[in-house]
Amino acid sequence: MKLKGSKLLHRDEIEGLIKTRLNKVYFTPNLESIYQPLYRDEAAKEFRFRGIIIFLLYALLCSGIYQVIPAGHDAVLWISLYIWVGIIILSAWVLSFVPRLNPYFDAYTCLGSMCAVAITFIIITMIGNYHNDALLHAAMMYAVVIIYAFVGMRFYTAVVAGWCGGLIGYIITKAFDFQIDWTFLNRTYTYSSFLGMAIAYVIDRQHRENFLQNCIIELHQNEMQKQSEQLKKMTEHDPLTGLANRRQLSEALEQQWRYALRHQQPLSIMMIDIDFFKNYNDHLGHQAGDICLTQIAEVLSQITNRSGELAARYGGEEFLLLFPMLTEAEIKPLAADLLHRIQSLELPHPASHISKFVTISIGTATIIPSESDQIQKFILAADQALYLAKGSGRNQYRLA
Ligand code: GH3
Ligand code: MG
Ligand code: MG
Repeated sequence: MKLKGSKLLHRDEIEGLIKTRLNKVYFTPNLESIYQPLYRDEAAKEFRFRGIIIFLLYALLCSGIYQVIPAGHDAVLWISLYIWVGIIILSAWVLSFVPRLNPYFDAYTCLGSMCAVAITFIIITMIGNYHNDALLHAAMMYAVVIIYAFVGMRFYTAVVAGWCGGLIGYIITKAFDFQIDWTFLNRTYTYSSFLGMAIAYVIDRQHRENFLQNCIIELHQNEMQKQSEQLKKMTEHDPLTGLANRRQLSEALEQQWRYALRHQQPLSIMMIDIDFFKNYNDHLGHQAGDICLTQIAEVLSQITNRSGELAARYGGEEFLLLFPMLTEAEIKPLAADLLHRIQSLELPHPASHISKFVTISIGTATIIPSESDQIQKFILAADQALYLAKGSGRNQYRLA
C-alpha cells in the first residue's frame, strides 16, 4: 500500500497524532488531503459487499413490517413506500462499482442516506396514520443505525446525512400536515441518532488510527529498505571512488565469463594503472592523490555505461574495466579514446617523466572462453599487457 502520508510525516509526528489528534476525527489539511482519497477508494470497494448486506437487512425489515399490515390496499401502499429506500441502496451499490465515482463516495452516500432517513421518517407518519405500530418506529431506528454504522461514511458526513434527513422528513411531514407522534418519534429517531453517531465516531477514529499505524509500518519498511540498499552499496562499492570493488567485480566477471563460454561470445577487459602516481602523491600530497583517483574513476564509469559493462577499482591506483561482447578490434579504439579522455582532464602532474598532465597505461585482453580457460589467467594476460605498456614508455595501451 502506498501511503503518501509516511513521506509527509516523521515517525514521532505520527505517534503524536495517534495520541492527540484522533479525538477530533480530522487531521491537518494536507494530511487530510492524502487520507480522504484513500479512505474513499477503500470505502467504495467495501460498499460493494456492504451494500448487499444492507439491502438484505432492509428487505428483512420490510417483510417484518408487511406482516403487521393487513392484506388489501395497504400492501400496495407498503410496497410503494418501502421500495424507494431499496432503490436508493441498490443505486449506491451500483455506483460503488464505478471507480471514476470513488471521489464522490461521500457525496452520493450522504445524499442517499439523507433521502433514506427522510423517506423512512415520512413513512412512519403516513402508514402510522393507519397503523401506529411500534415496528414502524423500529424501522426508523434500524435505518438510522445502519446509515451511521454500516454505510462507511466518515463521522461528519454521517452526522449531516442523519440529522438533515430527519429535518427534511420533518419539514415534508409538516408541509403535508401528517400526524406525528412526537413522544414516540423522539425516543426512536433522536435516541437512535445518538447511538449511530457514537458508533460512527468510534469507527472513523479507529479507521484513522489504522491509517496512521500503516504509515508507521511503511516508514519502517522504507527505513529498512534504505538500510539494506546502503549495506549492499557498502559491500559492493569502493568508498573513495564509488566504483565497483573487487567483490562485485569477481561476481560480474564470473557471470560474464559463464555467458561468454555458453554463447561463445567475446569478452574483453582493460587493466589500467596511473603513471608515476607515487611521485604524484609525493609532490602533491595523498589527499590530492585521492581527488585525482576520483576524477579518473569518473571518466572510467562514463565509458562503461552500456549494460553489463563495469568499472572496478582493482587495487590502490589500478582499475579493471569489463566489456562483455566486445572484440579485440572494438576494444582498441575504446582504449585509445580512454587515454585521450584522461589526458584531456589536464590534471597537472609536476613529477611525471612523460607529460605535464596525469596519464594512464592500459593493458587489454580479449577472449572467447573455452572450458579449459581460467579467469585468473585472463586477468594476468591483461596485467602483462599493462606491464608491456609501462615498459614501452607509458601513456599507451597494449593488447595481450
Ligand atoms: P608506475 O607509472 O610504474 O605505475 O609508477 P607508480 O608511481 O604509479 O607506481 P605504482 O603503481 O606502484 O604506485 C602506486 C602508488 O599509488 C603508491 C601509492 O602511494 C599510491 N596509492 C595507492 N592507493 C592510493 C590511494 O588510495 N590514494 C592515494 N592518494 N594514493 C594511492
Ligand atoms: Mg600500480
Ligand atoms: Mg602506477
